[in-house]
Amino acid sequence: MTAPIPQRATLDLIGNTPLVLLKGPSEAAGCEIWGKCEFANPGASVKDRAALWIVRDAEAKGLLQPGGTIVEGTAGNTGIGIALVANALGYKTIIVMPETQSREKMDTLRALGAELVLVPAAPFSNPGHFVHTSRRLAEETPGAIWANQFDNIANRKAHIESTAPEIWQQMEGRIDGFTCAAGTGGTIAGTGLGLKAFDENVTIALTDPHGAALYNYYAHGELKAEGNSVAEGIGQGRITANLEGAPIDTQFRISDEEGLEWVRRLLSEEGLCLGLSSGINVAGAVALGRKLVAEGKPDARVATILCDTGFRYLSSLYNPEWLKSKNLPVFPWLQS
Ligand code: PMP
Repeated sequence: MTAPIPQRATLDLIGNTPLVLLKGPSEAAGCEIWGKCEFANPGASVKDRAALWIVRDAEAKGLLQPGGTIVEGTAGNTGIGIALVANALGYKTIIVMPETQSREKMDTLRALGAELVLVPAAPFSNPGHFVHTSRRLAEETPGAIWANQFDNIANRKAHIESTAPEIWQQMEGRIDGFTCAAGTGGTIAGTGLGLKAFDENVTIALTDPHGAALYNYYAHGELKAEGNSVAEGIGQGRITANLEGAPIDTQFRISDEEGLEWVRRLLSEEGLCLGLSSGINVAGAVALGRKLVAEGKPDARVATILCDTGFRYLSSLYNPEWLKSKNLPVFPWLQS
């Protein structure tokens, strides 16, 4: 008798991602640095988890009926996650995005079957901002819900209920620190809360890119941004509902150059093709590892998030012309 072939529903492919020991970062930190491979999700990013939890939460609350529509204001990974989850469950997707976003993202969302509504780029205070436009559109569309990833805490629940227990189990309960950057804050707050519930001594660190206001908030109690970053999907200027009560013990500020150096090394030395937020997270994890070692934990074990695939950034991070236009270093193998 042959063994039965294991069957999985497509949505079960979200989560249960591998955790890998990162060689270069571990050497640089002097302790173990582990990366959670979120690019292995079906939509190739960490946001598949939030998309699934937000949709399941709306269903459970009776807000989303069969054949209904999910509306969200996002330029990238969340929209891709929602479009895939919606297809699997028979819903329609409408994504509102600023017209300044990359061609690649628009093409990807259209390819997945999402309806795209493009709006001019505008500050958050402007009613035409893509987030406000998506809320209005959801209100005006019969049978639609607004996913509202920034302030819908079903987002961070995804990480409390899936990311944190997976990391805890994969590290066999031996973890000293966790860090990542915040976009909505769902990943850092949810994984932080979930890990603290297993062991309150796990140090949770926020890794903030330049141009975001959270580093100053957690270090000095003031929401104040300095500098800027080209990293997509991270960099927050306010305390979203997902960030409220996040158990942040310490914080690091990481430059694009530092993050890009880890993107380069992880690709050329370890065969991982990643986006810039992953590189920034790894730089933060190295900083956290060094801090824990300096505090007398030579065997510290730190985990971070490898948020999305680098294939999403071929026209930017992996394009010499684009890098030069941003005054960022070009990877040696791309120099002609
Ligand atoms: N990295 C990338 C590439 C993302 O798209 C996002 C989501 N905006 C994040 C990191 C941050 O995740 P979160 O929204 O959970 O803070």
